[in-house]
Parts: sequence; C-alpha cells; structure tokens
Amino acid sequence: MKISMVSEHASPLAALGGVDAGGQNVHVAALSTALARRGHDVTVYTRRDSPDLPRRVEVAPGVAVVHVDAGPARPVPKDDLLPYMGALADGIAADWGSAPPDLVHSHFWMSGLAALDAARRTPAWVPVVHTFHALGTVKRRHQGKEDTSPADRTWLEPWVGANADRVLATCSDEVFELKSMGVPPGRIAVAPCGVDLGLFEPVGPAEPRTHTYRVATVGRLVQRKGVGTTISALALLADMGLDDVELLIVGGAGAAEDLADDPEACRLRKLAQALGVADRVVLRGQVPRDEMPQVLRGVDAVVCAPWYEPFGIVPLEAMACGVPVVAAAVGGLIDTVVDGVTGVHVPPRDPEAIASALELLLTKPELARRFGAAGSKRVRARYSWDRVAADTEKTYASLLYGRASMASGTPRLDVARAMRSSEPLTGASGGSNS
Ligand code: UDP
Repeated sequence: MKISMVSEHASPLAALGGVDAGGQNVHVAALSTALARRGHDVTVYTRRDSPDLPRRVEVAPGVAVVHVDAGPARPVPKDDLLPYMGALADGIAADWGSAPPDLVHSHFWMSGLAALDAARRTPAWVPVVHTFHALGTVKRRHQGKEDTSPADRTWLEPWVGANADRVLATCSDEVFELKSMGVPPGRIAVAPCGVDLGLFEPVGPAEPRTHTYRVATVGRLVQRKGVGTTISALALLADMGLDDVELLIVGGAGAAEDLADDPEACRLRKLAQALGVADRVVLRGQVPRDEMPQVLRGVDAVVCAPWYEPFGIVPLEAMACGVPVVAAAVGGLIDTVVDGVTGVHVPPRDPEAIASALELLLTKPELARRFGAAGSKRVRARYSWDRVAADTEKTYASLLYGRASMASGTPRLDVARAMRSSEPLTGASGGSNS
C-alpha cells in the first residue's frame, strides 16, 4: 500500500523530551518504519519548523519525511498551529499531485483536519484513518482553565472523529471516551502503541548509581505528568526509613544545564527544596533515545504518575528493560501495567500510594525482579511495533476492501476554507501543557 501519515507538530526526526515532542513522535516514526518493513511505502507529512530542513528526507527504507511549508519555519507551540492546517492540507495535496496514496493516517486532531481536507480534494476515494493520541475532552476535564488548546478544538475534534473512516484508539479507556464524544462505535478499532524491542532490552549496560536506591520518571516536563507527586513520595519514603533514594527526572527541552529557566523544572526544584529532598533529586534533562535503555536499566523502579495519560510509551520501555513500574491507574496505563504482576497501580495524584508501592519494591528486591521479568515477557508478547503494524494494517485492509460501500461517505466540511477564514490565534504561547 502507498500510505501517507500526517503528523503536524510531531516529526519523526525531532529530539524528544521537549514540551511538544514525545510519544506521538515515537509512534509515527516506529509505526511508519514497521509498516515499511511489511512492504508498504510510507510518506510522513509534518510542518516545516526550520528553514534548514530539506523538503524530503529518506529516513529508512520505504519511509520518507516531507516537510510542508505551513506557518512560520520555526518552532510554534502546537496549540497555536490550528490556523496553518489549511496550508498543511495544500502542501499534502500538492505533493500527492495526480498520484494520491491508498490511504492517509493522521495523528492528533489537527492533522485529522488537514488529512480530511487533502483527501476531499482528490477525485479518487482516499480513506482517512485517524489516531487522536490525546483528547481535548479529557484534557479539559483534568486541566480546566490551564488548558491552552484553541477554543475551536471543542467542535473540530469531534468533527474529525465523526468524519474519519476509522478511528484507531490506543487503549480500552480511549474507546469509552471516543464513544461518548460521538464517534460511531462501528468505526472504532484498537491498536496500541508499541516499543522498540531491539533497543529496549533487559540485558546490557546500566548507568551506575551514587545512592543505595534509584528511581526514575521519564517524559516531557509538563505538570500533568505528575513528577511533583513523585517528589512528594520521595519525602514520604524518607519518613518510612528509606532516606537514601535518588530520584532521576529524565526529560525537558534540552540538556540539564538548559533547564535553568524552564518553568516546570523551576517548580519541581522549588518543591524538592521545600520538602528537603533537593539533594536527592536530579533533573537530568533530555536523554537521547539510544541512551534511554541504559538509564532505565540502572534504576530499581520507574514511576509514571500522570493525572491522565492517553497511552504512555514510557511504561512499555521500562518493562521491556525488565524494570518494575509504579503507574497511576489511568488511560493506557490500565492496559499496559498489570497490578501485582508487572508493577503496582496507584490512584492518580497520590504521593502516599506511590511511597508505599516504592517501599514494597525497594525492600523486596526478589519481588521487584519478578515484576521486571513479567513486564519484559508481557511487552515481548503484546507490544512489538511489528505486531502493532500488523494490527494497523488489518484496519487499513478492512477499509480498502470495503471501498465500494464507503465511497458514498459522509458529506465533508471544507476545512481548508474554515481554517483560512479563522483569525490567527493570539496568546497561549510558550508551549502546550498536554
Ligand atoms: N523520551 C526521550 N528522551 C527524553 C524524554 C522522553 O527519548 O528525554 C521519550 C520516551 O522514552 C518515550 C517518549 O519520549 O519514548 C514519551 O512518550 P510517552 O508516550 O510516555 O509520553 P507523551 O510524550 O506521549 O506524553
């Protein structure tokens, strides 16, 4: 199949750990590569965010990234990108020319707008498969006024769900959310995120530690990831007699020295100082992907304590390295981490529960080892990118074989025109908080 991926803000080529660069970038890169290994021809369309980027980059056999001129050629927070989706659709349709793909798979709601718009312009029927990665309804529920998404997301996101030919949920929790958003249940399929099992392995070098115990959090430095809750748990652990535990915080828009003025890093440092644990909290900054396994193998446990989590690739990476996971029982983490088998589930925003779970894992190394081994087995059985690509391919094939019945389709909105007529959004700069 000739497949177009659309990932407006999340390029497969971006460095990870910054405010808007994380799981979606990994997902698009790994899924595209795994589909190409199955013989498909994949082009990923993303927004040009630097004048120095070539128009087209071959990133792997069968996978190319095309940088489309849509808005300024510099990094723009993803919550400010909506006005440029019409231009992104223009660029995609122009690149297709008279040879459109067999289908287009869009990632994140704004890419869905661009994909539906580009597909609408071709005389051929190009089905649109959509993965949301995150939902505005969930974000608003948890972040309220702090949500920096554009106001139009409230109606445009359900519109994408209603008009895509298939919506791929990444976990069972998302299926419920999609149904309550109005996505017809018959158009929802499930394909989780995966993990690179060639890179994340239990055996291999591990970073040495300087304290008796070391635990880690990994991810974009945004408040909803709950790193603050884990710092509070560190203080509680000391009260329980475990006062030589180091917390390694991985992630951020740059190396450790670049985080001096990062607002979330400053907040976390202040919290650690106030709780008297600053000497055991290390803000490590961005870690390149190929160094991540040795960081993960060097810790006793990984804590994933988000307020909410659409999927969460980090627990899969930890499990793949044989490391037990303490996970908030939210979103995708409900499916991936098995309580009492590969880790411990805790309620969200509950430092006491995290401290108790860590006490268990740190004082019972045999149990922790068993959880780690079970996690590694679980991801190898269920979460390889090859398996995810095979599941995704089934969804693609079911659509293409049903081409004749779908061709009459739902009438489509002229998104390009809607986008062009919308005023550029103001304010809300400085990054999203998704
Ligand atoms: N990541 C990384 N370096 C960092 C921080 C994060 O490579 O410094 C990677 C991490 O290993 C994972 C991804 O970014 O693959 C984060 O994905 P996840 O789904 O956990 O969170 P999201 O970013 O989607 O909220």
